[in-house]
Amino acid sequence: MYRIDHWIDGHTVSSKSGRTGNIFDPATGQVQGTVGFADVDEVDQAVANAKAALPAWRSTNLSRRAEIMFNMRELVSSHRSEIAALLTQEHGKVTADALGELARGLENIEYACGIPNLLKGGYSEQASAGVDVYNIRQPLGVVVGITPFNFPSMVPMWMFANAIACGNTFILKPSEKDPSTAMLIAELLKQAGLPDGVFNIVQGDKVAVDRLLSHPDIAAISFVGSTPIARYIYETGTKNGKRVQALGGAKNHMLVLPDADLDMAADALVSAAYGSAGERCMAISVVLAVDTIADELVAKVKSRIPNIVVGNGSDPSSEMGPLITGEHRDKVAGYIAGAAGEGAKVVVDGREGAPSDGFFLKPSLIDHAQPGMKCYDEEIFGPVLTVVRVKSYEQGLQLINDNQFGNGTAIFTRDGGVARQFQFDVNVGMVGINVPIPVPVSYYSFGGWKASLFGDLHMYGPDGIAFYTRSKVVTSRWPDPRTSKVDLGFPQNR
Ligand code: NAD
Repeated sequence: MYRIDHWIDGHTVSSKSGRTGNIFDPATGQVQGTVGFADVDEVDQAVANAKAALPAWRSTNLSRRAEIMFNMRELVSSHRSEIAALLTQEHGKVTADALGELARGLENIEYACGIPNLLKGGYSEQASAGVDVYNIRQPLGVVVGITPFNFPSMVPMWMFANAIACGNTFILKPSEKDPSTAMLIAELLKQAGLPDGVFNIVQGDKVAVDRLLSHPDIAAISFVGSTPIARYIYETGTKNGKRVQALGGAKNHMLVLPDADLDMAADALVSAAYGSAGERCMAISVVLAVDTIADELVAKVKSRIPNIVVGNGSDPSSEMGPLITGEHRDKVAGYIAGAAGEGAKVVVDGREGAPSDGFFLKPSLIDHAQPGMKCYDEEIFGPVLTVVRVKSYEQGLQLINDNQFGNGTAIFTRDGGVARQFQFDVNVGMVGINVPIPVPVSYYSFGGWKASLFGDLHMYGPDGIAFYTRSKVVTSRWPDPRTSKVDLGFPQNR
């Protein structure tokens, strides 16, 4: 049994609130630790420290900020195995997947190494006689990241790397289900040379989040999690005058056209639906199979499922680990249990033969799903792939565009013209063409449309820099006695 607490002003601070949460080992179902939940005073302490660290940090020169990010890049890279082991221990994902998550997170630290270049503004010489105009990007102040359980290292890295490099100080509120990775990241940032107080962690639940949402010294909030909470964070944060980007849930469809390479599509489907036990916001959870190839595609997916090795994530032979909690496993199992009654056909039932210790389910495949069925309409967030049979490209496109979510989507086809039309027509933020999980690289930005994102700016990349800074435009004239005169007219440039 171990205990996890807050990280404030460069060191661990024990929670005195008396409220705690259990940290489970999802592979055994046993409690392995506890995490202290912040009360209002503890959140206020973190904010006060972040605020106190702000003046010195935003004055720190860009080369030094970049140097710290370079140091952090090396430290994360050299601690890969240790971080991946923590991810597996608390989240349950298999080691290869944990290393993949970390690699995608690290990209964002690498992007932030370019901060001197990223913060360059524009300059217009001689906008008027002797007048130059330029814009600069300045940090917002104390900013917050609230993160979900499913990417305990990558999603915080989406946020803090750019936020800190831009000159903000940062408070992370990690998921209470797997809080340890964030603490290791905090220690590495300290080793990288980050001054105390620039990066802080408050552990906890709604109490901590609500205080962060209302605290007058918080300038901005980045959130990633489920849609109902994302909507709540956006509405409450903006009402309190904060800049907010809140990424929500997903129901990602893959449209498979008759000319697609069906083996390639089936491999991609199995990887994208069942990887990380389906607990990815970019997982494919629905395949839209055009009628003429639907039987063949379903057969190909079905034939691959028995080969997936489900087991403890720390076992190198495992390909798919457990779900995060017993409660979540039961919720996912409920969708499988209800599917037949709604008129769908359960082709593979992942409740059968799953390891009995821990929060396991095996992969499930549900055919003949339809809008109006819970297994189609709701985000399941587990290893369940549903198949909807469609008559045409147009019908498939319509279903995607009618869906409440718009995070990711993919089309599998050999027809470049149709793929291009899909990219043009589809109301989804991230699109894959023969790529099942189109998570943008760190120099683009990540974000869905519709109920998958509340706010204007996407996460990380150029949007991340825009989110964590505000622009100031300076109009300047150096005193020139030759041009000085009294003039009460409105300033003109011509
Ligand atoms: P969640 O919404 O339950 O929790 C996310 C964060 O919000 C956690 O830090 C949690 O402590 C906090 N929280 C939970 N309930 C709250 C409440 N009532 N008030 C205030 N704060 C609260 O999400 P989760 O279960 O941790 O993560 C899974 C969800 O996240 C899925 O819906 C998934 O699609 C989504 N997700 C989205 C993206 C994306 O980029 N769009 C990425 C990863 C995960």
